[in-house]
Amino acid sequence: MSHLFYQSRLARPELDRAEGIYMWDTSGKRYLDGSSGAMVSNIGHSNPAVLAAMRAQMEKSTFGYRLHFQTEASEALAAKTAELSPPGLSKVFFVSGGSEAVESTIKLARQYALAKGEAQRFKVISRMPSYHGATLGALAVTGYAPMSAPFDPMLMRMPKIPAPRAYLDGLDIDDVATGHHYADMLEQKIRDEGPETVLAFIVEPVGGASTGALVPPAGYMSRIREICDRYGVLLIHDEVMSGGGRTGKFWGAEHWQVVPDIICISKGFGGGYVPLGAMIAREDIVEAVLDMGGFVHGHTYAGNPLACAAGLAVLDEVERQGMIGNADRMGARLKSRLEALMQRFPFIGDVRGKGLLLAFELVSDRDSMAPLPKDLNAHARLVDLAYDRGLIIYSRRTRGGLEGDHFLVCPPMIVGEDGIDEIIEGLGAALEDFAGEAGLETGR
Ligand code: PMP
Repeated sequence: MSHLFYQSRLARPELDRAEGIYMWDTSGKRYLDGSSGAMVSNIGHSNPAVLAAMRAQMEKSTFGYRLHFQTEASEALAAKTAELSPPGLSKVFFVSGGSEAVESTIKLARQYALAKGEAQRFKVISRMPSYHGATLGALAVTGYAPMSAPFDPMLMRMPKIPAPRAYLDGLDIDDVATGHHYADMLEQKIRDEGPETVLAFIVEPVGGASTGALVPPAGYMSRIREICDRYGVLLIHDEVMSGGGRTGKFWGAEHWQVVPDIICISKGFGGGYVPLGAMIAREDIVEAVLDMGGFVHGHTYAGNPLACAAGLAVLDEVERQGMIGNADRMGARLKSRLEALMQRFPFIGDVRGKGLLLAFELVSDRDSMAPLPKDLNAHARLVDLAYDRGLIIYSRRTRGGLEGDHFLVCPPMIVGEDGIDEIIEGLGAALEDFAGEAGLETGR
């Protein structure tokens, strides 16, 4: 009997080792890590330069409490992170994961409002669907009922607006008009809530697990920025998943040249080598909060030298190996191969995403976009069938916040053409298996 528990009794084989885009269990079976874990292992497994940097740091020190010491590793990673961030966002606060990063952004925003004498601002508007984390503060801004429902009475009431999902809402207008249509819902919400009470808006520039890699329409991100500015609302970009290069740019929001006030990043930032995340904020926001007496927040492991040394080596490897360009090129190749699978499998409803943050959905009928029957349990079944064939993908039982099933295909940014071929082959076979058991037609 195992003494460990997570969210369910699901038992998986024991992991033995991992290298590059592959993982092996203790029986010797090999898996292609087609989702980089949970979109974490961006630079692949067992990168020798990262392991060497970690070993070197371990020989010196593994922990120095931030209130007792500065460390070379944390200073260097902060400097590198600031250099990669948009102009003006030069202050870096380290944490150990995505939820902690989101909590930090909410608290910094609130303290900035207090510093400006705007104590009535406390509401953080977010989107439905969205995912910002599992801790109670981050969950309050998360728009994903399966995770939040049990805790509803305990959560801060935070306003939500619909995320753009024109493909489900059946809008028949051009991309820019669609972007404005959804962005204007933010303005309406700010007015309804009372602009003087609204602190911030938090958004995943390219959607993650809750939306299934939804890419905003053309006019959306810049209009959101304008609306936030008009009402003195801080714009927070949750780049926990989309940051770090996976979308083909270091920051997801770079695709639209929009600069937020605060960013959070995690997952690929530590690359699966260490638990690591960061909040990056506008310098004047941080200075105002520090002038007021300090930022009332912090986590024990923040900025520990081992995590920071690993994080710095991850960023160096991303640069040295040109992984962001590779994510762009291989992402385009993988996306077109996934689109080609739509010919063979009429029950693939949509393929979308940017770079190597890609997703597809399964539907009963592509015209009506009706979901597959719930009892097919497609989100779990297809993952298991792929897993049997040695391919790891990631899924959620939702489509744009509605009933349905979506799947993320997000291999490490070092994947090459052979890896893409192998993913498509494994996925095609798993979809074939699924169609067979579910009695769905294929169009070979
Ligand atoms: N924000 C986003 C966009 C995420 O994708 C996630 C994790 N899926 C989180 C926040 C929370 O991160 P963590 O699980 O590391 O707490």
